Amino acid sequence: MAPVHPLELSTIVLDSGVADEPVNRITNELSELADGLAMVESFSHSVVWDSGEGLMCFDASGAGSGRSVVESIRSWSTEPISHLVYTHGHADHIGGSFAFGADVEARGGRPLEVVGHRKVLDRIERYRTTNGWNVSINQRQFGGVRSEMGLELGENLQQFLPKGTLVPSTTFDHELEITVGATQIELHHARGETDDHLWAFFPRERWIFSGDFIIWNYPNAGNPQKVQRYALEWATALRRMIEQAPTLLVPAHGLPIEGEERIAGVLNDMATTLETLVHQVVAMMNAGETLDTIIHTVSVPQDLLAKPFLRPLYDEPEFVVRNIWRLYGGWWDGASSRLKPSPDSVLGAEISQLAGGPEVLIARALELMTSDLRLACHLADLAGWAAPDNVTVHEGRAAVYDARRRDELSLMAKGIFTAAARESKDVVKRASLGEL
Ligand SMILES: [Zn+2]
Repeated sequence: MAPVHPLELSTIVLDSGVADEPVNRITNELSELADGLAMVESFSHSVVWDSGEGLMCFDASGAGSGRSVVESIRSWSTEPISHLVYTHGHADHIGGSFAFGADVEARGGRPLEVVGHRKVLDRIERYRTTNGWNVSINQRQFGGVRSEMGLELGENLQQFLPKGTLVPSTTFDHELEITVGATQIELHHARGETDDHLWAFFPRERWIFSGDFIIWNYPNAGNPQKVQRYALEWATALRRMIEQAPTLLVPAHGLPIEGEERIAGVLNDMATTLETLVHQVVAMMNAGETLDTIIHTVSVPQDLLAKPFLRPLYDEPEFVVRNIWRLYGGWWDGASSRLKPSPDSVLGAEISQLAGGPEVLIARALELMTSDLRLACHLADLAGWAAPDNVTVHEGRAAVYDARRRDELSLMAKGIFTAAARESKDVVKRASLGEL
C-alpha cells in the first residue's frame, strides 16, 4: 500500500494531536507538494523545485541514500539539476551530493551550482580533520538503529563524509537573494542546530524550506556528543519564520505542513519550548546555582513534550539544558572534585574497596535497577572501573545498561547506553574465549 501523502498525514496528525504512525519516514519516495514542487522523504529529505530553468534541490540526503533520492527525482522530472542548496553541512544533508553531481555530469550542460552558508566550508574541513571521531560518534549515536532506518552501512562508517561530497561554490554570510527565472528566493542564515544553517523563503509563494529548524522531534539542541548548539537563536529564527506568514513549510525531517495558522502554531510551540529552557537555565545560572541543581530542577511542560512534533525521541530537554550551560558558562559543572578529578579507575577501586569489593557494588546496582536506574548506572560504572576484566561485574553492568536503554525515550540516550552495555558484553565474550 502506498504511504499516505505527507501533507495529508501532517494535517491529520497536527489537527488531532495524535501521531499513531511514523512521521519521520525514510522511504526515498517522492511526493508532489504543489505545482512544480516535490519532496523525497529520506534520511534527510530533498526538496525539489522546478524553476522552469532547471531543478533547484534543497539538501542531498546522506551517503547511503543520495543515489535513491536522485532516482526518485528522475522519476518525476527529466529537467537538469541547476542548483543544490545545503540547509547546513551535516552529513545526512550533504553526504549524498556526489549522486547529484554524477547526475549533472552524466547529462552534460551547465555545471551544478552548490549553495551554502560560508561556515559549511569550515565544517567540511573539520569533518576531514576529525573523521575517526565522527565515525565513532555516529556508530554510538545510531548504534543498532541505522539498519532499521533502511540505510546502507559500509562506506558511511569508514568515511564520515564520502570523498565525492560537493563543496559549496556559492557562499554567503547573512542573507542571499537568488533569482532563478522569474522567481526570487531568499536564503537566511541563523544559528540553531548548527552554526552554518539557513532557511529558504519564497516570498511570492510564501514557502519556507526550513532544514533542521523543524525535525518533528524535540529540537536537536542538546546532542551530548557534538559541538555547541544555539537554543535561543534557534527560537529567534522560528519567530522570524512566523513573521513571513508562510503557507507551506517543508522541513528536512518529518512532514511538510500547510496552512498559515497550522504552521504558526507549530513554530510558536517549538520556539516556546526552547525559550522556556533558556530562560530557566540562565535565571538559575545568574542565581549562582550549579549544573547539578539546574539539571534536576529545570523542566519542560508535559503538554508541549506530548505534541507530535516535539516528542523527545531523538534529542531531549535534559541535554539541551547542558548545552545552554556550556554556551553561557564553561565546561566545569560546579562540583569541586570534578575540576581536576582522579582517574576513574582509581575512584572505582577506592569505592569498591570501601564497599567490600566490586561484586558488592554490582549486586547493589542490580538491586537498584527497579527503583533508580540513574544511581544503578553510577554503581555499575564504579564496579566496572574497579574490575575491568571481571565477568560477574560486566554481566551485571551489561544488564543495568540494557535496562537503562529500554527505559529511555531519546535515541541519543539509547545509543550511548547501548554502547555501554556492548562494552561490558565484549569483556564477557573475551573472557569466554580465554582472551583475558
Ligand atoms: Zn538533519
